[in-house]
Amino acid sequence: MTPATEHDVAAELEELSRQLEACGRCRLGETRTRLVFGEGDPSADLMFVGEAPGYHEDKQGRPFVGAAGKLLADLLETIGLSREQVYITNVLKSRPPNNRDPQPDEVEACKPFLLMQIGLIQPRVVCTLGNFATKLLSGSPLGITRVHGQPQVQEVGGHRFNLYPIFHPAAALYTPSMLETLRADFLRLPELLRADAPGAETRSSGQTEAPAGAATACEPQAVEEQAGVEEQAPLPLSAPAPDDPPSAESQASPDPGEQLGLF
Ligand code: URA
Repeated sequence: MTPATEHDVAAELEELSRQLEACGRCRLGETRTRLVFGEGDPSADLMFVGEAPGYHEDKQGRPFVGAAGKLLADLLETIGLSREQVYITNVLKSRPPNNRDPQPDEVEACKPFLLMQIGLIQPRVVCTLGNFATKLLSGSPLGITRVHGQPQVQEVGGHRFNLYPIFHPAAALYTPSMLETLRADFLRLPELLRADAPGAETRSSGQTEAPAGAATACEPQAVEEQAGVEEQAPLPLSAPAPDDPPSAESQASPDPGEQLGLF
């Protein structure tokens, strides 16, 4: 396959977003105000994946424009980047009513679109913000308290990237110790972005292909469910930041429900 040009990618993302406007794969299309597809540089090396749009995002149709977004922008500034230089999206593209947690079927319905975004943008690093994005893209039930700051190689549609889980900015806003950890984890992003892209020598245990074409992506029958995205190998990065003590969640035995029923 010839590499897509930046223009092709932008156009394909736009088409995907257009298709999602009409998506009826879950109930959230009925209650949302606006679709929040994602935004940023279509050829970004760094992609952020949050949980779901909140009140402000739903009103504006843009991800991370509230208080958590302000913190994310501040954190980006600490590593010399702006929002425009990265790509920002969420697991869910529609706001859950009253900001409730995403439901497993909603995550499953939206998952192919996130995978297509990753497959099109082909970032070197996908930084997951909080539990939902981390569990979805790691394919592991281990929670963010356990895995934050620890990069892992993942693959989507033949594209390998470094998955880097960090705390969700909204969770860190009012918890000083979590904010401190988030800042420390964030400061390791430049090193990770400079690291060699995950190489072909990495063993592939997963198989994740881009879903059926965007033109028919919202027809349930046309979107083939993705195989799990699996962790593959440790990264060429210096020693990970000290981890938090295992949370109760991470010590619990893996529960299929915790795995969002997707893996
Ligand atoms: N929280 C998220 O996870 N995503 C947003 O877009 C805003 C807040």
